[in-house]
Amino acid sequence: MSTRVTVAEVLHKPGAVRDISVELELPHVELPLAEVVGPVRLDGALEGVLEGVVVAGSATAQVQMSCARCLHTEVRPVVAAVAELFSADPGVEADDDVYPVAGEEIDLGQMLVDAVVLAVPESPVLCDGPPRDCPRYLELQAATPDGVTTADTGGTDPRWAALSGLLEQMERES
Ligand SMILES: [Zn+2]
Repeated sequence: MSTRVTVAEVLHKPGAVRDISVELELPHVELPLAEVVGPVRLDGALEGVLEGVVVAGSATAQVQMSCARCLHTEVRPVVAAVAELFSADPGVEADDDVYPVAGEEIDLGQMLVDAVVLAVPESPVLCDGPPRDCPRYLELQAATPDGVTTADTGGTDPRWAALSGLLEQMERES
């Protein structure tokens, strides 16, 4: 499914505004503890400006997150504000700070990916209360090597060490 939309109605017409409300399938977006599932919705407006077109509004993505504390996964909406310039300057480079206008179209895909990635929490905590109220967290903690024999491996499994360090840190911070 395309993430391109036409901007013909506002291109080269500074001040012209057109509402936009679209639902787009993005390229796969996966982060360490989160994954975008389903289409991303953009509600806002396209506005013609001298340099090209400004897209402003809010993007809503359904994101499957893993709780950084207890690893429970859940799909939650993530809302990101967007306000980006798409430049009609043919000399605009991909690594510039603006997105390009191609003919009379813009591709919203990269802009939405960038906005959603920024809006997803790096360490999502989905538990409602403090750690001691989360049975999954307590279960995880009970399974840390403190109470487990590590004789077979000759030491602590480094994965558990990293996780229990993370959990202790979160315990301290909450
Ligand atoms: Zn949790």
